[in-house]
Amino acid sequence: MPAPALHYFDHNATTPLPVAAREAWLDAQDRFWFNPSSLYREAGVAKRRLEDAREAIADLCGCEPARVVFTGGATEANNAVLRRAAAATGSRKLAISAVEHPSVREPARAFAGDRLTEIPVDGHGVLDLDALGEALARGEIGFASLVAANNETGVLQPWREAAALCRERGVPFHSDAAQWIGKMPPGAIGDCDWVTASAHKFGGPKGIGFLLIPSGTAQPLGIQRGGPQEGGHRAGTEDLPGIAAMVAALNDRQLPGSAAAADRDRFEAALLTALPGTKIVVGTAPRLANTSMAIMPRHSNLKWVTRLGERGFPVSTGSACSSGKENPSHVMAAMGLTFAEMGRVLRFSAGPATTRHAWDALLAAIHDVWQTLESGESARPKLDLGQL
Ligand code: PMP
Repeated sequence: MPAPALHYFDHNATTPLPVAAREAWLDAQDRFWFNPSSLYREAGVAKRRLEDAREAIADLCGCEPARVVFTGGATEANNAVLRRAAAATGSRKLAISAVEHPSVREPARAFAGDRLTEIPVDGHGVLDLDALGEALARGEIGFASLVAANNETGVLQPWREAAALCRERGVPFHSDAAQWIGKMPPGAIGDCDWVTASAHKFGGPKGIGFLLIPSGTAQPLGIQRGGPQEGGHRAGTEDLPGIAAMVAALNDRQLPGSAAAADRDRFEAALLTALPGTKIVVGTAPRLANTSMAIMPRHSNLKWVTRLGERGFPVSTGSACSSGKENPSHVMAAMGLTFAEMGRVLRFSAGPATTRHAWDALLAAIHDVWQTLESGESARPKLDLGQL
């Protein structure tokens, strides 16, 4: 039997490489494969390309090129930032939100220990700014880190406001913007002292990203120790093809706008009608236009993911990092979902090429899976295609 056509709905986990990024990768690999640190002319050209890429990222983020450090992705960068932060806060606390990605949460726990404080979120998973403001006013916070857009729910955090509150108190602020960059206009993201981004979330290769560091950071970050590359912040020969592909992917990227949100909203409305008892998570909070998270009325999300996958619809249970694990998502727990609800959560995340037709096909596949899972039971909701 031929494999079904793939309708990929897991773009928050990772994305395919667009043609422009693939060409940029091949071009850099074919023509600029020399070591940028070497001293001959060809290496100088590779070095120039590297610095062009740094300038392109700096322009996009509205900051000086010296603040851009190329990294091996967001996990690496987040670990480095949290390690530096924990060492620099002295007796004061390191504050993170209750809904951070594990690549912030785990190093924060490991490096700050009992000097870590978690700022709560509301039922939509949005940071409680008052709680952050009060903790800052008490003078107990020495560093704060807040994800810009949540990978599981797509909810947008008030990072601008949080950054401003921290600035008023002279407290350094980091934002993990791995899901923001490439899906939202970067805006004033460069105003945050530290910013993390990851190429494979916006069409770039895996294992490449960038980190904005504060201007004039003299002490090397030591992400990796060794040679003097990346201002000593990250030793190791730079992956120029990967970096060139990341920049090309970002330039090529079409941000999901109101049309993408309309397709997503229309899908959600039709899903609620087709499968009564379904709940949409954070439906009313500001969120990424490409992301939809639903609590299905019945059946475990692992069954849903398997069966939708078999039909050519890769979707997720929440975050790829926690799927298959026994532990429920701390993000869902912080938002107050029950244990039973967490086991029925599905995340659908679209990409630039996702059409309205693909959302319709997803809805039909969901209904088909529902019928399979319910088979043997008498009451089956009918899919009303007139709703589409
Ligand atoms: N932060 C967030 C918000 C993410 O979604 C991810 C990827 N799931 C990461 C960090 C880790 O990124 P990377 O895969 O580049 O290490």
